[in-house]
Amino acid sequence: MTTVPTVTLNNGVTMPQLGFGVFQVSNAETSEVLSHALKAGYRSIDTAAVYGNEEGVGQALAEATVPREDLFITTKLWNSEQGYDATLRAFEASLAKLKLDYLDLYLIHWPTPARGLYVDTWKAFGKLLADGLVRSVGVSNFQPEHLRQAIDATGVVPAVNQVELHPYLTQEPLRAFHAEHGIATEAWSPLGQGKGLLGDPAIAEIAANYDRTAAQVVLRWHLQLDNVVIPKSATPSRIAENFDVFDFTLADADVEALSALNQDQRVGPDPDAFNQA
Ligand code: NAD
Repeated sequence: MTTVPTVTLNNGVTMPQLGFGVFQVSNAETSEVLSHALKAGYRSIDTAAVYGNEEGVGQALAEATVPREDLFITTKLWNSEQGYDATLRAFEASLAKLKLDYLDLYLIHWPTPARGLYVDTWKAFGKLLADGLVRSVGVSNFQPEHLRQAIDATGVVPAVNQVELHPYLTQEPLRAFHAEHGIATEAWSPLGQGKGLLGDPAIAEIAANYDRTAAQVVLRWHLQLDNVVIPKSATPSRIAENFDVFDFTLADADVEALSALNQDQRVGPDPDAFNQA
């Protein structure tokens, strides 16, 4: 069985560098999809309250034979539950749906800056960490300004910032901020949601040189940049393909060529403007 490399977070907790995302997997199909992912070797699973499949994830984990300590489970607090007390309640609800007694990583899903609640929310995350209910706490879709505000108010540095990141959106300034503050960069939509990115001729050419698929080359690019990645697929062959990325290495020139595809092009919302509750 392949051992996935880990990154060591700023509190000493280790996190698998490759995990499995379950966005847009229905609650009903989650159990089957996750059984394929666990069989392929994934041990890190990324869900969110708003995905509506925490119960499906919990069911799959309860049925799996993998020991709890070998798993790394992440979920996220949805925007409507921000605020100190609401966060603590939402955390309990997520934990119950997941049928777990602790989480490995809990994230604030979006800062929703216009609502002005993410600092209070982050204080509640500090309590969950201090109470031992989560092994690590982080954020998602935070820009440097949001990170600064959260850190300055609490002294707690997020272990992770999970952001949209792929060769069309390389997020260089944000990654530099993370490096400076000891925050791990986790890439969501690491394959650009499989849309135009995986059909890019430059990626196809590099993939052909390594006799690999475009998805595998893009995942390798992430790994060699030290990003944590959580690709999603509901197709068993692709679930296995996306895990089969540990027996080849891209030359530095190819890593650079992939980075040079950056267009600052998002597939998802702009975190500064997204304030949906
Ligand atoms: P992704 O980049 O992982 O792309 C997934 C899609 O790419 C699949 O639905 C499929 O169409 C295609 N695909 C997957 N493997 C392929 C392969 N080997 N060959 C060809 N096509 C392939 O996009 P995503 O699902 O948006 O992101 C991954 C995970 O990130 C999500 O499941 C979720 O856990 C997380 N996420 C987080 C946020 C956030 O705001 N924090 C937002 C979006 C996603």
